[in-house]
Amino acid sequence: MRRFRRLRQTEEMRSFVRETRIAVEDLVYPVFVQEGTGIKEPVPSMPGVFRYSIDRLDGILDQILGLGIPAVLLFGIPAHKDEKGSGAYDPEGITQRAIRHIKERAPFLIVIADICLCEYTSHGHCGLVKDGQILNDETLPLLARAALTNADARADIIAPSDMMDGRVAAIRRELDENGHRNVPVLSYSAKYASGYYGPFRDAAESAPQFGDRRSYQMDPANAREAIREMEDDLEEGADMLIVKPALAYLDILKIAREKFLVPIIAYNVSGEYSMVKAAALQGWIDEKRIVLENMIAMKRAGADRIITYHALDVAGWILGK
Ligand SMILES: [Zn+2]
Repeated sequence: MRRFRRLRQTEEMRSFVRETRIAVEDLVYPVFVQEGTGIKEPVPSMPGVFRYSIDRLDGILDQILGLGIPAVLLFGIPAHKDEKGSGAYDPEGITQRAIRHIKERAPFLIVIADICLCEYTSHGHCGLVKDGQILNDETLPLLARAALTNADARADIIAPSDMMDGRVAAIRRELDENGHRNVPVLSYSAKYASGYYGPFRDAAESAPQFGDRRSYQMDPANAREAIREMEDDLEEGADMLIVKPALAYLDILKIAREKFLVPIIAYNVSGEYSMVKAAALQGWIDEKRIVLENMIAMKRAGADRIITYHALDVAGWILGK
């Protein structure tokens, strides 16, 4: 008989043989920034998450810096939306101005700019629309311009989330030709058409006004296709990859880790967050225990870093705050 229990007797021993750990350095906190002033507005379907106007960002930035969280992922909510999502690539758009503000206030905080059109289009789709179709090639130059204006604002990382084919190459070319050869691209390569995005659309006001995103995001049933998406994005010049969502796609994370040598980032999405929060608010689960277990599961599956709305709580728990 092997006595596995020998190594489980005390917390000290369990810690000594622990295979996977979560650190504050692993965390990326998503931040929603919206036009206007004096705004710190709670997102109803995401308890603990707020939308901030630029003049109210400093409070949350101080919290992030105080906990030592190394990076934020920025989403913008513009005052006006139009058919072409022009707010996404306006040099004076909401994320462009927010990035300038953050880099002035916290130059060492890594700012990841999410690049997509859906928060900025009146129809809520991630690309240009014609006759009810989401256009691929016509959307690419707009995504490239969005990437460029965010890089001009000193975003540290450009993260396209639209799932148009060829976007990484178009963005890489635009960045290279305009003096941003050293700005890395973090591609949402394996992004599934998921029901887990519901609360995010509430937060970013980006729900599609017709149809859904299944003609460009991936079918939840497909794993091999994720490998092809990731291979393609790397060939086009991506430096790092995202798997999104995370918990229902741990197998995809594991495949990504085994197949590719680049940094792999898990996106623990809004619906995953809200389910835990809702159950915790009912007193049905131990929130801290469940969240930390989820974090460990993503790391064990192969995530190098985790984008999560739980980041502030997780960092606080790790630091004993
Ligand atoms: Zn989008």
